[in-house]
Formats: sequence, C-alpha cells, structure tokens
Amino acid sequence: MEILTGTAVSPGVAVAEAVVLEAEDYRIPHRTVPQEEVAGQLALFESAVTSATAELQRQYDDLASHSGKDAADVFRWHIGVINDRRLKSEIESLVQEKRHSAAYATSTVMRKQQVRFQKMTDPLLAERIRDVQDIERRLLRHILGESAEDLAHLTKPVILIAHDLTPSQTAHLDRTKVVGLALDMGGPTSHTAILLRALGQPAVIGVSDISTRVSGGDLVIIDGTNELVIISPDEATLAEYRTQEQSFVRLTDELGHLRDLEAITADGTRIMLMGNIEFPHEAADCVEKGADGVGLYRTEFLFLANKGEPTEEEQYDAYCSAIRGTQGHPITIRTFDLGADKYTQDKSYEREPNPMLGLRSIRYSLRHLDMFKVQLRAILRCSVHGSVRIMFPLIVSLMELRQAKMTLHDAMEDLEEAGLPFERNMAVGMMVETPAAAMQCEQFAREVDFVSIGTNDLVQYMLAVDRGNERVSRYYNTSHPSVLQCLRSVFRTCIKTGVDGSLCGEMAGQPLYTLLLLGLGLRTFSMAPNNVPEIKKLVRLTTIPHAERVARRALTFETERQVINYLRDETRKLLPHDPI
Ligand code: PEP
Ligand code: MG
Repeated sequence: MEILTGTAVSPGVAVAEAVVLEAEDYRIPHRTVPQEEVAGQLALFESAVTSATAELQRQYDDLASHSGKDAADVFRWHIGVINDRRLKSEIESLVQEKRHSAAYATSTVMRKQQVRFQKMTDPLLAERIRDVQDIERRLLRHILGESAEDLAHLTKPVILIAHDLTPSQTAHLDRTKVVGLALDMGGPTSHTAILLRALGQPAVIGVSDISTRVSGGDLVIIDGTNELVIISPDEATLAEYRTQEQSFVRLTDELGHLRDLEAITADGTRIMLMGNIEFPHEAADCVEKGADGVGLYRTEFLFLANKGEPTEEEQYDAYCSAIRGTQGHPITIRTFDLGADKYTQDKSYEREPNPMLGLRSIRYSLRHLDMFKVQLRAILRCSVHGSVRIMFPLIVSLMELRQAKMTLHDAMEDLEEAGLPFERNMAVGMMVETPAAAMQCEQFAREVDFVSIGTNDLVQYMLAVDRGNERVSRYYNTSHPSVLQCLRSVFRTCIKTGVDGSLCGEMAGQPLYTLLLLGLGLRTFSMAPNNVPEIKKLVRLTTIPHAERVARRALTFETERQVINYLRDETRKLLPHDPI
C-alpha cells in the first residue's frame, strides 16, 4: 500500500481499478510486462522504428517532389531522432532492465527528450518540442496499432490517472465511467482543476509522479476530502473506504432536497447562488442543482476544445444553447480569457517567459481585435434570447475597459447596419481580479453596470504565486489577511457606489468562506454547480448579524493559519457532519 498526498479539487471517495493515460492520444494498457514477454516487446519496438522510418521516408519523398528538399527537411530530422542510437538504447534498456512495455518505455524516453528541449534557451530549438511530441505519437501508433485505446472506450468504472489533461479531454470524460481522478499536475485553481470540479467526481491533483507510480489495473482509492491517493490498499483500509464511499453518496443525496428551496438566510436575506460553466450544456446543470442562473460562462473553453477559432455562427449557437439551458434565469457571458494556462491548441507552444503576466485575457482580445469583434457580435446577437450580461476579464486599467467598451459599440454598429437585432441596454461588467482593479474599484464602478471578483487570479497576483504550479501551491492562500482586507475594500466600494458586485472565484464555492463572505457584504456568489447545494444549506443555517461577527473577527487575525482555523471552527458549528 502506498499513500500519496496532493491538492483536492472535488471531495468524496472513489475506489476502482486505475487506467493510466499516457501520451496525449494514447492510453497505454500495461506499464510492465512479464520477463518472458521482454524479447517480444523489443521486437515490437524495432519493427515500430522500421515502419515509422519507412512512413517518414515516403512523406519526405512526397513533399520534396512538390515543395523542394528544404521544406521536406523536417521529416529527415524526424527520421534522425527515431533512429538516434542513444535514444534507442535508452528505450531498449528500460524494456530489458525494468521490464517496461515497449510503449511505456518509448513514452518515458520521449518525454525526457521533450523536457530537454523545453529547457533550451534557443527559441528555435525549443520549438522542436512539438516535433518530439509528434515523433512520440507516431512511434506509439506503430507500437500499439489496434490496441491503442482512448477514453471513449471505457467499459467499467475506473480511476483515471494522468500526467495532465487537456480541456477537451476533461470535457469529454464520461462521468459514469470515470469515478475518480488523480493527476501529476495542477494547482487548486488551475483550469484543469476547475474543469474537474465541474465534473464532480472525487479528484486530487498535483500528486507528484502519480502517473509513473500507478500501473493500469492497480486498485486505487481517491480520497478527495483528505487530499489522498492510496495505491493498492490493504484489506482494512479498503473496508474503511468502502463504508466512506457509501456515506458520501448518502450525503450527496440528502443535499438533493435543497434544489427547490431558496438560498435565504435564517433571518430572511435572499442570497443569489449562481453557477460557473465552461461548456453550454452545463447551464442546465446549474438549474438542476438549484442555482439562480449562470454567474460566469467561461467562453474560452469553446476555443480550447475546438481545433481552431470558432466562427461567429458556432459561437452564436453555443451561447444560445447556454441561454436556453438557463430556462429564463440570468446568464453572464465572459469574453475570451485566453493565454496564460488557457492557450489555444495551435498557440500552446508560443511560450512566454511569464505567461501569467503575459499577453493574456483582455489584452489578448484587444491585440486580436478581429477575433474579439466576432465574439462580441455573437454575444450581442444572442442577447435578445434571454437575460444576458457581458463581462470583460482581467481589466487592469480604465483605458483597457474603455477600449473594450468601444469595441463593443463598434460591434453594435455593425449589427445595426446589418439589420440584426440585439439588446442595446445589455448590462456590461468587468472582473476585478488584479490588485490594480481592486484598488481603483471606485473609478471602475462609475463605468460599468456590475463587477465580479475573480479571487483565483486576485490571490495569485496579490501573493505572487502561480495558481497553476503545484510546486508553490502551499503559498496560494485565499485566507491571507491581505486578501481578506482587499475583499472588504471592494465590497465596501460596491455598497457605496451601488454597483452590483458578485464573486466568482473558487472561493465562492468553498463552505469555509461562506460566513466570511456573507459577513463582508457579498450577496451574489457564483461557483461550480456541484457546490451550490452545500453553500445553500449553509446560507439557510446562518443569519447576517452572525456572519458579520465572524467576518469582523476573521479580519483581526495576523496569519492565514489563524484565519483558516477560526473559519473552520465556525463553519463546523453549523455543519458538524460535512467535510470542511
Ligand atoms: C478568477 O480568476 O477568479 C476567475 C473566476 O476566472 P478564471 O478562473 O477563469 O481565471
Ligand atoms: Mg481569472
């Protein structure tokens, strides 16, 4: 039995056999092979090298005859790498000495090679990482042939173990088959984590090397509540977790009765609980979980799950479908928040030295005005079909906000000229997710209809800690006293100026912070739909004066530890049986 720790993204317990997802497209069924199969695996590798080389040679000849030798040269390079003596012998010795399967050994060595390229300072050489990935996939295709499997072909419940998942892989996971997950990568508010939370299955991320420690078929326990992954549990541990698994299902069922009840405090204040969505079909999930609408639609996932830039019609259809899903409830559509850890597929290797401080979000949209306008037109066109608000992400300066609004007006004029209907008075808002926007909130409030606080980014920029990097995730602390003070200041500004304020970072869906946020004056929360029932339960158990007392006290502490301990104690008094 081996116990590993990571960062929880969804609570609960799952027990099942593991499936290990290796290269981007391939699921490698076996990591190690019995001694008697070693020779066969070596032969398999050798024949994959031969057939991949012949295939590349054909591609080289083809391209060279059409476009000349220079253009075709890249295939020569691929042939060279595939036949490189050092790489080949590294792969062969993993098979011989460690009894790795040919596929697993190839994947391991090619991954190492990718890391070598990633570290190169010469951008031209760093670009070669894409080629190495391509080579890995080609070899795996030849090795696995018919046995190459993907996640679409799961036949029984499994725990999915992977290094990382792309947004489209995560979006297409079948939640009836994937009952739990663990990943090597990811911080608590990384976008993979956000997608996994939406999936709702117990999941732990940032578990160092999990994808190399588990083999396909190993029995694995995911304890999303205590942030543990247990590999090959002993009998006693297994029995204990089987019981916990059942009681978690009971707890989830119990929360179901809250669906049709309002989120209203025990002393009568109505609180709006909205859902965050990444894909249009999730809008209906929000309503299903008892939310009051969609408080954040992260449209960039449409872009990320697509091969390229979605057309105006594709966007229009997606937004209309989300609006239909809300069944008349309001929806806030956020314009593309691309860049940083949300790259388009074909741009993912345009590495920036500091992507979180780079050309991301509204900056990216304002740099690609044609793309931005297409999106604004699609949002405007669907605004007549429901109660739609538009929101700009990562606004730092008034100039940016004004430029974004000007582009929106240009898009309105386009539609007017084309005679297409839209809602001219659609509410326009912005995210407050940088210290600059928080500090200048009063000026911004004069120019928007609403603000939504994005604590995921706000915390990363206030505390100078990359939200997606598991190596620094212990420094990512939402309870930091400076974060609390910043939130208090923004809420006060909202109350003073009368601008509508909400909070849509992951913090909104964590019971630990519900009393604090209510006490600071928050009345609209937006969160992963799966978190709505529990937050509703808590809202209905408390009163505003009580929450205000909790917030006042929380603001007196000097360290994040004290804040967390205090909030946990106060929350447990109301929810003694729930995982906090
Ligand atoms: C945030 O930063 O808190 C937020 C809600 O936006 P995202 O997580 O998509 O960056
Ligand atoms: Mg953000």
